[in-house]
Amino acid sequence: MKKIVKFGGSSLASAEQFKKVGAIIKADDTRVYVVPSAPGKRFKEDTKVTDMLLHVYQTAADGKNIDNEMAAIKARYDEIIEGLELDFSLDAEFEEIKANLIAEPEVDYAASRGEFLNGKIMAAYLGVPFIDAAEVIFFNEEGALNTYKTDKILAARLAECERAVIPGFYGLGKNGKVKTFSRGGSDVTGSIVARAAKADVYENWTDVSGFLITDPRIVDNPKGIRYITYRELRELSYMGASVLHEDAIFPVRKAGIPINIKNTNKPEDEGTWIVESTGQKQDYVITGIAGKKDFCTVFITKAMMNAEIGFCRKVLQAFEENEISIEHMPSGIDTMTVVVHADEFMNKEQSVVSAIHRLVEPDSVEIESGLALIAVVGRGMKSASGTASKVFTALSNKGINIRMIDQGSSELNIIIGVKNSDFDNAIKAIYDTFIS
Ligand code: ASP
Repeated sequence: MKKIVKFGGSSLASAEQFKKVGAIIKADDTRVYVVPSAPGKRFKEDTKVTDMLLHVYQTAADGKNIDNEMAAIKARYDEIIEGLELDFSLDAEFEEIKANLIAEPEVDYAASRGEFLNGKIMAAYLGVPFIDAAEVIFFNEEGALNTYKTDKILAARLAECERAVIPGFYGLGKNGKVKTFSRGGSDVTGSIVARAAKADVYENWTDVSGFLITDPRIVDNPKGIRYITYRELRELSYMGASVLHEDAIFPVRKAGIPINIKNTNKPEDEGTWIVESTGQKQDYVITGIAGKKDFCTVFITKAMMNAEIGFCRKVLQAFEENEISIEHMPSGIDTMTVVVHADEFMNKEQSVVSAIHRLVEPDSVEIESGLALIAVVGRGMKSASGTASKVFTALSNKGINIRMIDQGSSELNIIIGVKNSDFDNAIKAIYDTFIS
């Protein structure tokens, strides 16, 4: 049994948090590879070390003195080192980072140092080897992960160390310089390490006990999710639910390694299991509800459009020509609706409309904005009847008008469109109907 443990920024924000992490790792000797984030916020108004580093980068790039900024960051790490009573110093690393930032300010290099330095402390604290992510994680020319090279080199390196610390968030770019993933990317590193190590479990430790059925800012104290499949999670995170970096799913998903989201502050909670498939009895028919505001619909009518070969393709071409990606495309007889993100669409709307006219000569094109989309996701829908009708009844009981419906062909989700202003109430109504 081999587990990879990734700890988020709030789990490593102070010496006190580090101690909890140390206890978690020591409590289970299958937790062999550790992927730390940079120190996060210790309290609400605090600043994450990654943000402090981005600020230093900007200051250096502006040609200004960075002594004060670097000292503030060093103080964060020194506080941790002292609190852990380690006989260890990062003085040399700080000298080197400062010199590098002055000589050649690079944004990814600057941002990545938060994880690099925290990894050094973690390795010293646990007494295990430190593996620099820039030696084992590689990006290709397009800036995407070079999966083949990373897997090969990382697996070989891990095979040499029974235990190790590998800092999250960065690797080496094709140009030989440090490159980071997008924000929150330590999750991705954890997943890559889990795959290369052929781990049994990828434990992702954070400050909540897993996923909640819906956004706690909308529903008071929503219930937690015990099991969720990769596909369900993909649907929910695409629609705005966030706890885990979206790209963290792919490496482990292919390898069939489950992810367990756990809470550093409540390690006894089981958290959420993200799995390929499960036969576990579900608490509820639906697994989660998520949504996003600010979509637009483009409603196209043309008599006999269904008989016209290539009609849909030509409409989509109008969006493609304007480099707009499409979210949904419900259609009827003689009508077709294309749903797009308002921020991508608004400043190109007239150009899309004229392209549609040129390409398909429709009877009419109507644009509406202010649409919110809500995804009701659940693997249980397949075998339960009446899920859609329950959703519709819940909304109509609250007087909420449904502007669009789209049921995914997989029977894994139902997407409904409502007015932006009905968004919160719609989510509450759906939650109350399914979760008791
Ligand atoms: N430290 C990085 C960030 O704040 C990456 C991470 O924490 O996963 O985005």
